[in-house]
Amino acid sequence: MTIAFAVAAREVAVDVGHYAAEPGVISASGTPEFEYNLALALAVKAELEKLNLKVRLIGERGQYAKLGWRTRDAQGADLFVSIHHDSVKERLLPRANEFSGFSLFVSRLNPFSAQSLACASLIGKRLRESDFKPSRYHADPALGESRPFADEANGVHYYDNLAVARSATMPSVLVEAGVIVNAAEEAKMRDPEVRATIARAIAEGVRECLSK
Ligand SMILES: [Zn+2]
Repeated sequence: MTIAFAVAAREVAVDVGHYAAEPGVISASGTPEFEYNLALALAVKAELEKLNLKVRLIGERGQYAKLGWRTRDAQGADLFVSIHHDSVKERLLPRANEFSGFSLFVSRLNPFSAQSLACASLIGKRLRESDFKPSRYHADPALGESRPFADEANGVHYYDNLAVARSATMPSVLVEAGVIVNAAEEAKMRDPEVRATIARAIAEGVRECLSK
């Protein structure tokens, strides 16, 4: 006799970084980061659902003024993924076209820091397999903020005090998809095909990580 067990679908909280009143970085073309984050988060949601994962969107209406509300409303999800687009230090903005690539951040203060890192590494690996490159500059003391590498090859950094990673009650990864103060990179980030490729890579990394 065989008994089939229904396996509950794993759920991913996909967080849209920033909110209407403080929409994040302003891109090279003058577009607020929130708009890019929302478009990519919706694409990530679609790709995760294709892989039979459940998705809970966080902050998609631009209403989350307090960071703690995001992780509070993610409670019960198996993974928290925060979607952002990147900038550079203000004094480096005139050289913004020299900076490009994705970055991933995890916190050692998250209660599931090892699993957070495992998920971030798998997302970075999938992005690299899709020909995206880690930005690397966040590790640099002059060009970035000396954020140490947690997994250098896959573009993962430690950012211990990152609020959405620290306060999460599940593994948490923050994704900076690309540097939108760089006009050429912004054009890529706006391309629906590029966006779908990034979303697919993130979703595949997440699925692999949650199936372990
Ligand atoms: Zn951001």
